[in-house]
Amino acid sequence: MAIGRRDFLKKSIILGGALLSSPSSLFAFAKRTETWVPGYQILEQKGVLGQRIEQAYEIFKECELCPRQCGANRLEGDRGFCEAPARPVIFSFHPHFGEEIPLVGEHGSGTIFFSNCNLRCVFCQNWPISIMGKGREVTDEDLADMMIYLQEIGCHNINLVTPTHVMPNILRATRKALKKGLRIPLVYNTSGYERVEILKILDGVVDIYLPDMKYMDGDQADKYSSEAFDYPEVTKKAVIEMNRQVGVLQTDRRGIALRGLMIRHLVMPNRVAGTDKFVKWVADNLPRNTYVNIMEQYRVEYRAYEYPEIARGITVEEFLEAMDWAEAYGLTNLDARSLAARKFLKELIEKEHFSRLKSDSENSVMDERG
Ligand code: SF4
Repeated sequence: MAIGRRDFLKKSIILGGALLSSPSSLFAFAKRTETWVPGYQILEQKGVLGQRIEQAYEIFKECELCPRQCGANRLEGDRGFCEAPARPVIFSFHPHFGEEIPLVGEHGSGTIFFSNCNLRCVFCQNWPISIMGKGREVTDEDLADMMIYLQEIGCHNINLVTPTHVMPNILRATRKALKKGLRIPLVYNTSGYERVEILKILDGVVDIYLPDMKYMDGDQADKYSSEAFDYPEVTKKAVIEMNRQVGVLQTDRRGIALRGLMIRHLVMPNRVAGTDKFVKWVADNLPRNTYVNIMEQYRVEYRAYEYPEIARGITVEEFLEAMDWAEAYGLTNLDARSLAARKFLKELIEKEHFSRLKSDSENSVMDERG
């Protein structure tokens, strides 16, 4: 049975586990004291947002939105490697409180989960959404309404998860939402597997780039991310372009992100992610105060159990060595929760070490007495 737009809005919020919504949060946006103008508003005032939308929709006719460059005519119903239709498929939209602190703030990051993906990693934690494509097709108008809804309940940004294959829809929805009053930053939450040519269409539209840098070795990308052997080189170029567009993270006086680059790097078992090379590359190619989140939440998901090298979680030692490398290469803007996790684990190890010393000493005294 077909469900109406209103029902879908309700259902999607429930799917996402929304934590809504106190009367104070409903008016949080209106209460802002700082004035800030999002990039897409400036671009519209300059009269170029409409051209960008046309340019993006043209690409759908022979899809080259991502480095796979399948050439599928998505407007005619053809599907490429990502298997995405021309209309966005959305799994859920809701305030998210598990993202980086500058995105979450007080009222959450307004997250929209797009189904399908151009990378299809064997360890994907969202595989029912990204690989099986669970979700519902919506119009660009619906997408605009979701953005407005997330702003109205107080979210600090629109966090577009896996946006690459629906970039034209996002542009058009943003313009529609702008006309309805959207004024919060867009967060482009991407796998990092992006073409510079496509990112240039987003120049001035996206205020916050949130790319992954998953691997530094093409063989690993080839093996675990559907033969994307060029991932490291493509992603490095993309991140440099993102940094050129938005620069180092800027926040408001509450510490909430307004504009800038935030890089995510997931530590993987057996050094598969090449974390030492990653932090060195950041230190050599970007400002040292680039926001970097070194993440420890790797889990064995989807088909990861088929690959012995990644068929386990990471160890405490693997996480700590990653954080130590970041410090050694002089990165100065590491995610606060990773730093807290590192501090906690180091203290725990020291305590355990001390109690072991203490217990050894007590046993020695007993032996002497005995
Ligand atoms: S977005 Fe999808 S269809 Fe377009 S090039 Fe990438 S994988 Fe192919």
